[in-house]
Amino acid sequence: MIYNFNAGPSVLPQSVLQEASNAIVNFNNSGLSILEIGHRTPLFEAVMNEAISLVKELMKLDDDHEVLFLHGGATTQFMQIPMNLLNENETAAYADTGVWSTKGIKEARLFGNVDIVCSSKESNYNFIPKDFAVPNAATYFHITTNNTIYGTQWQQIPKVSIPLVADMSSDILSRKLDFNSFALIFAGAQKNMGAAGATLVVVNKQILGKLKRAIPAIMDYQNHIKAASMLNTPPVFAVYASMLTLRWLKENGGVEAIEKINNQKADLLYDAIDNSKIFKPTAAKEDRSKMNVCFVMEDVEKEKAFLEFAKQNNIYGIKGHRSVGGFRASLYNALPLSSVEYLVGKMKEFEKR
Ligand SMILES: *Cc1c(COP(=O)(O)O)cnc(C)c1O
Repeated sequence: MIYNFNAGPSVLPQSVLQEASNAIVNFNNSGLSILEIGHRTPLFEAVMNEAISLVKELMKLDDDHEVLFLHGGATTQFMQIPMNLLNENETAAYADTGVWSTKGIKEARLFGNVDIVCSSKESNYNFIPKDFAVPNAATYFHITTNNTIYGTQWQQIPKVSIPLVADMSSDILSRKLDFNSFALIFAGAQKNMGAAGATLVVVNKQILGKLKRAIPAIMDYQNHIKAASMLNTPPVFAVYASMLTLRWLKENGGVEAIEKINNQKADLLYDAIDNSKIFKPTAAKEDRSKMNVCFVMEDVEKEKAFLEFAKQNNIYGIKGHRSVGGFRASLYNALPLSSVEYLVGKMKEFEKR
């Protein structure tokens, strides 16, 4: 057994992997592979419709919020959002909490003005800024709810009177939030929801269609809404993997239930780090991510030895991102509590040596 703490693409439920692999050979007893059926067939339309309705149900979305499954990853959304929402003479507000925010800012500047209302860059993004104001004149406010690389997470979603846009790539459906309070939510599926290739976009349709710019057809959210995410060939297998993972989440009690387990997992690992004499956390305590736990060693020289020890013990994917160093254990929805117990046990074993 491998304990998979990879940051993304990342661990998926075993039952999802099993069912997805069966579907590659024989999808729903059709005698055909999921990879060789037409996307405009009742067979696949049922997959897309179920994926969309599961998102609506799990997020408790109202009728203004549309669910889309698109291509291009979260990175394409950095461009598609300002392209659809920001006029040339307008200003969008951004919170700069890491590399992913920075990429969003860079793309938005191609379409309009950007006001960076807060930043934790000077301390290598190890906290979430608290003291800032978002101008009411801004067209929207963009945040990254969970900063995958630095292990920080917005514990309080800021209250603003302008449309709130959120990159939830690494904590989508991991905790209860008022998802209807967001104007737009996006997430690459490969971290907490399914397989790489599909991107979830939840958009309040009331904010669309107010733009002067002409939008290329494939980039226009309104076209995707009209076409029910079938404007062109969707990433069929990635949507299917997401649908299975969403089903799994629903069967396991939905967001409320998974949040409880996610809290247990994070508490267990942070406690172990806080009580260790050799490991120490990198993120500010009050902003710690429940999804990506970043830590380093007091003695940097020993980090290589721990990585080697982890590898020998079938612990996969805990090397930290190069911009933080040390270690990062990603505790996404599909990672069982027992994997965290195992990791903590091995950390203690290493410390004893
Ligand atoms: C991984 C990640 C991205 C980039 O996602 P892609 O799907 O690879 O484009 C963007 N934002 C956050 C917060 C991420 O964790």
